[in-house]
Amino acid sequence: MTKSDESRPLKDRTKLVHAGRHPFEQHGFINTPVYRGSTVLYRSYADLVARNAKYTYGTHGTPTTDALETAWTEITGAAGTVLAPSGLSAVALALLTVVKAGDHILVSDSVYQPTRSFCERFLTRIGVETTFYDPWLGEDIASLIRPNTSVIFLETPGSQTFEIQDVPAIVAVAAAKGLCTILDNTWATPLFFQAHGFGVDLVVEAGTKYLSGHADLLLGLVSANARWFPRLHATFDLFANCPGPEDVFLALRGLRSLELRLREAERQGLALATWLVERPEVARVLHPALPDCPGHAIWKRDFRGSSGLFSAFLKPTSQKALAAFLDGLKLFGMGYSWGGYESLVIPFDCSSYRSATKFAPEGPALRFSIGLEDPDDLKADLAAGFERLKAAG
Ligand SMILES: *Cc1c(COP(=O)(O)O)cnc(C)c1O
Repeated sequence: MTKSDESRPLKDRTKLVHAGRHPFEQHGFINTPVYRGSTVLYRSYADLVARNAKYTYGTHGTPTTDALETAWTEITGAAGTVLAPSGLSAVALALLTVVKAGDHILVSDSVYQPTRSFCERFLTRIGVETTFYDPWLGEDIASLIRPNTSVIFLETPGSQTFEIQDVPAIVAVAAAKGLCTILDNTWATPLFFQAHGFGVDLVVEAGTKYLSGHADLLLGLVSANARWFPRLHATFDLFANCPGPEDVFLALRGLRSLELRLREAERQGLALATWLVERPEVARVLHPALPDCPGHAIWKRDFRGSSGLFSAFLKPTSQKALAAFLDGLKLFGMGYSWGGYESLVIPFDCSSYRSATKFAPEGPALRFSIGLEDPDDLKADLAAGFERLKAAG
């Protein structure tokens, strides 16, 4: 634990700089090095029999993975954290920590699409049934609970469409019924949404996004409260699905500047979102920090900030015009994932798989991840794109 001398708790930004580091256990060097290894030697037969060693085998943890887990536990306010080799594998680990054959689970209709596929294509195979629920449901989610329901899975804001869930209302229902809550907190990170503080049991973060911040690694983290951490850790040990040490090291490097980058992502994201609101080609911008965005009031009540990822619906136009807009962009790259230093845009269409809500914008839907470029340059790139769109439309 990183502590200040007085009893006053340290601010997040300070914690991010100091958490999980022990320079004088490594000759004074600031950063925990990359420990590579499978075998860990025991000093004696007696130690081997008693498993009397801090580290016992590569899959069970190294000083490098410990550093990130300890830091993340401190920043999330959890009882403990385990790592996974991707965000999606962290989602799977969290679910498999809780469910058993015969269970029923409730999953928000606007979860990250591969989370949905994991439920539909894998959990069904082990006898777990999923009901997808409208993310706008608050306490009324109680009406969907069955005697065998074990999990309520949340993701706020929702992937691509940015619905803000009423987490306190859902957690209260889950607590009253003894259900486990799992929340994918990738958009806000613990800096902008303290999910464990709201009583969520297991919290997933795709470290691939803002923790990395540089589009150069894949990583997942699952943090748990005291009730669930022993079972999470035991499940992690059963799978031994651990990330590579180089990626963990890079995530630790990203951690130190996470607050700084996230604040800038917020500023840049809002600058571009408010600019898009004024464009005649744009029908609607979905960004929870904009006052007329659905869910804004709940966002304001529960969140401490917004990140640089949001969506926009364009006014109806042709595929040819959309292609002209996208293909000529010089600064915005087109590709999956987000949260790096570079700006991205990706068209999306949820209409074929959302089941509890209707996705039917009149025009194309685009998701933007705003990077660290100068916002004037980004606006100019998009403005030129809108000129091409008009010319082709
Ligand atoms: C990207 C993402 C994931 C998965 O992360 P990967 O590391 O790409 O597997 C999970 N949840 C959300 C909300 C994401 O955006």
